[in-house]
Amino acid sequence: MNYKTLHKFSYGLYVVSSKKGNNFNGQIANTVFQVTSEPPTIAVSINKQNLTHQFIKESRKFAISILSKETPMKFIGHFGFKSGVKIDKFKDVNYKVSNADVPIVLENAVAYLTAEVIKEVNVGTHTVFIGKVVEAEIINDKEPMTYAYYHEVKRGKAPKTAPTYIKEEIKKEVEKMAKYRCEVCGYVYDPEKGDPDGGIAPGTKFEDIPNDWVCPVCSASKDEFERVE
Ligand code: FE
Repeated sequence: MNYKTLHKFSYGLYVVSSKKGNNFNGQIANTVFQVTSEPPTIAVSINKQNLTHQFIKESRKFAISILSKETPMKFIGHFGFKSGVKIDKFKDVNYKVSNADVPIVLENAVAYLTAEVIKEVNVGTHTVFIGKVVEAEIINDKEPMTYAYYHEVKRGKAPKTAPTYIKEEIKKEVEKMAKYRCEVCGYVYDPEKGDPDGGIAPGTKFEDIPNDWVCPVCSASKDEFERVE
């Protein structure tokens, strides 16, 4: 069996959000699709370890924000590689609360839908939630992000809890500069560019970065970086 076959599926990139009590949470997912049109229903596959899973289980509601192609890696990292157990992901993010009381992320979104769970399927590590669409709105005419674009252009990686995660052998690349890749999210530190937002000037060698520096995308520590050969 060739597991790479599974890489041939095309997907989009979404923020799936829900609530529990007064708390909101959301995560990145690529496994969202329409199931039927009459009535409109959609499905999403969510890892049971994720906080959003708990929230959807509890509220029976979720929102899907369809992300634009221009969505920065940092934003994807914020929702995709950080846990809502530790941080409030909605703090400092542009969102609104729907009539049905579901948080909807508007930032970097081209459109959104909200749904009520009508059925759920236990699939081992994940639950597939099937939802009746309650609201659906277009926000702008920007092009939606595809999973392929995220991987190829943005050089993003699937978190280990994603349904489509496959243990990847990291391609060894021959490059002149010693670049370092975050083993958690795939972000590559390029010494030529540095990390100005993180206080690292362009031209700083990875070895010279202070030890308390963290990955700008997923906040992994410096020791979780591997040299790109
Ligand atoms: Fe990272």
